[in-house]
Amino acid sequence: TDSAQTADAPPIDPPVIPPERDLFTKYDALIAERQALLDTGVRDPFAIVMDEVKSPTVAVIKGKETILLGTYNYMGMTFDPDVIQAGKDALDRYGSGTNGSRVFNGTFHGHADVEAALREFYGTTGAIVFSTGYQANLGMISALAGKGEYIILDADSHASIYDGCSMGNAEIVRFRHNSVEDLDKRLGRLPPEPGKLVVLEGVYSMMGDVAPLKEMVAVAKKHGAMVLVDEAHSMGFFGPHGRGVYEEQGLEDQVDFVVGTFSKSVGTVGGFCVSNHPKFEIMRFVSRPYIFTASLPPSVVATAAASIRKLMYAHNKRAHLWANSRRLHGGLTEMGFTLGTRTPESAIVAVILKDQTQAVAMWQALLEGGLYVNMARPPATPAGTYLLRCSVCAEHSPEQIETIIAMFRAAGQATGAID
Ligand code: PMP
Repeated sequence: TDSAQTADAPPIDPPVIPPERDLFTKYDALIAERQALLDTGVRDPFAIVMDEVKSPTVAVIKGKETILLGTYNYMGMTFDPDVIQAGKDALDRYGSGTNGSRVFNGTFHGHADVEAALREFYGTTGAIVFSTGYQANLGMISALAGKGEYIILDADSHASIYDGCSMGNAEIVRFRHNSVEDLDKRLGRLPPEPGKLVVLEGVYSMMGDVAPLKEMVAVAKKHGAMVLVDEAHSMGFFGPHGRGVYEEQGLEDQVDFVVGTFSKSVGTVGGFCVSNHPKFEIMRFVSRPYIFTASLPPSVVATAAASIRKLMYAHNKRAHLWANSRRLHGGLTEMGFTLGTRTPESAIVAVILKDQTQAVAMWQALLEGGLYVNMARPPATPAGTYLLRCSVCAEHSPEQIETIIAMFRAAGQATGAID
């Protein structure tokens, strides 16, 4: 495996710690499970190094040119010439970093500008940028619902949503994944007076399924709850303006907060929340993950602003992404793979495999054939499933999609995942 220790460094004797005092003892089972897997000779799916990245869809991994199908780079903006130029100009003009929090020395022109770009893109009065999407969820959820109030969330919510709940003091209520009925039932059991926040996602990232937001938002409103929707996996290609599933389902005047990320369709790093709430700005003074961390580097916010403004006019890319997603979903279904959704619902195509051994074997066979996909396993996945997660990119050519389908056929037959 790739080690941080260089070959010519002197060997270091590990410290001797009695197991009963060693805080790592609780991880022994996991360490043994990982080691047993690696001892079978497979590559570590969680330690891949991209030695060179040639485009949004091709990288060099261990000397081999590899098609990327597990990057969340949905709109392929990472190599857009205008985006790159904006980053270079900002590096020259503002330096490499801000050294500080947004509320002290860490707000530069570019942070204000990317918030303006978000307001333009979403058509909202407010936009607040956080340093990651993870922190946007932590920061919004922990600050919105406090002691004596309720957060009602989908059981399959992203880790950042769960962690936002743990960070705050509200009561947490979970409902069955995408079940409008269960949401209604659980909201109905709560006392009517306390404040309530229902947290939903437009596209669920493990299976690639879309939420019935229209029905869910109606139920939330019926019970007097505010609604936050995480649209991390839909930005740029759902809805007439690419705002997300909530826009596609006509809910712009009903969703109170939309959380998103710059790490997927935007093609850089960062997170945000947009809202029309008249008191939204107070979040900057009460949200700890906004205050107690350094702001994004100037080059990052400049690339994000350039990318967001281009995404507003990316209709061709959008159409391409959908065509690619449908073709991949159809090709894999025809071959006999079990996918996360019966029909193509988003740009995530999740291939469900029998167990860890089959998933890793398949993942490795694909990598050796020249295709990188994401391997996902519990606890990140629902219901103990092992998945190969494919995220399609608008920049995949039709020929690449056909090559990918052929690679899946070869790897599936070699590993016995399909006949
Ligand atoms: N929300 C969802 C639904 C996500 O899938 C992710 C990242 N996978 C995040 C939030 C966090 O985004 P970021 O990478 O910007 O931290």
